[in-house]
Amino acid sequence: MLKQYALLIVLFLINSEVSAYDWGKCSSISPRMHWPFLSGRAAYAPLVHSVSFPVGTPQRNALENSFSRLSVNPAKIDFSLGAPTTSLLDNAFNGKNEVWFGNPGNNIHASTKRNTFYDITNTGDCFLIEADIIFNKAFKDNGEYEWSIAKNQLGIFGGAKASFQAIAMHETAHAAGANHEHQTPNLMGLSHGGLRSAGKRNSAFLIPGQYSTDINQKIALPFIGCDLAKGFSDVYQLDMTKKEDISVSPWKLDGQENDGLGDPYSLHRRKQLVMNAAGTAEMPRIITSADPDDLRKDPVYKVPKGSTINLNFMYDNAGRTNQPAVKRNFYLSTDDNLSPDDKLLPAASATLAIPLGAPTVIKTPVVIPASTLAGKYWLFIKLDPNNDITESNNLNNATYAVIQVS
Ligand SMILES: [Zn+2]
Repeated sequence: MLKQYALLIVLFLINSEVSAYDWGKCSSISPRMHWPFLSGRAAYAPLVHSVSFPVGTPQRNALENSFSRLSVNPAKIDFSLGAPTTSLLDNAFNGKNEVWFGNPGNNIHASTKRNTFYDITNTGDCFLIEADIIFNKAFKDNGEYEWSIAKNQLGIFGGAKASFQAIAMHETAHAAGANHEHQTPNLMGLSHGGLRSAGKRNSAFLIPGQYSTDINQKIALPFIGCDLAKGFSDVYQLDMTKKEDISVSPWKLDGQENDGLGDPYSLHRRKQLVMNAAGTAEMPRIITSADPDDLRKDPVYKVPKGSTINLNFMYDNAGRTNQPAVKRNFYLSTDDNLSPDDKLLPAASATLAIPLGAPTVIKTPVVIPASTLAGKYWLFIKLDPNNDITESNNLNNATYAVIQVS
């Protein structure tokens, strides 16, 4: 989903750094590539091909939403859509930033082409001077992009389409300098739904980023994750005027996948959501498909009433300060929406530290009351239930695991 020929030599050069994010460079000794600062801030605002993205259309709205969501990063870089253009001047490397639907070559969903300048005579700095984003017109014409955040349309949740908003956020992060990375779940890796057709994944089931689903289980909202947030703040400086953003999600690191050019993606999967009382093994799952690895479905775990289980979720801080004591509530719901009548469960540790820099996967013991009636339940977690923390995005503060109580 991206590649910039000028940058291939710079991969794998930042292993000594603490953070996992991978960033483009002009050369092995240059600083990380970045847009120049103007009046203390950097910006990426490409011209928008008006034939590809007419104002008022679903694809235009989806693109606007993607840029807005990426702009809540904690750094001094802002993303917005620039003026409309009808002339692409034969696309890449015409001296202007542009976004359009075209042919991204071998890249399935989209491609970002970056052009850089390495100042060898003066400061040795590495500036971005152009970045174009080309989405796949064939996908659009075939109806394979989903413009909305409707969960049931997305391939990784059982639908058949690719999340345009997740792809657009991923590509735009490339346009700011980010490379793929393979050590933690984040927007520069891939979430997968595992469906394979004749031995191959359908492209709709392998999508960048991670998704929050919150108390309304009808949406799946892509978000940037703390690792990319750290990259933004290291490269573009922390912006103390931006808001915090903590999140909880079901995703875990599940290996890596090469992008074909030696730059691996992290793979993200919903797994090990419900563990046994000791926290040593995943509880047995109900297999509802002939394919036991059908990753498109929410796993349903078998849990005896009265038992202690561990809820095992990933916590992420993509804001600007460490959060030493975030409140958490756990609820038992009979449906997939968290509502005031759902049962609040006692949990062993009520607060949690969610630091910046890297996501943490934490098991929390929860007792399923012995009085629980047999049946299917959604076990919800909600972070910061009293809204003590002012956040840019409250839609990623909750997630769930599905259990069958017997
Ligand atoms: Zn990519």
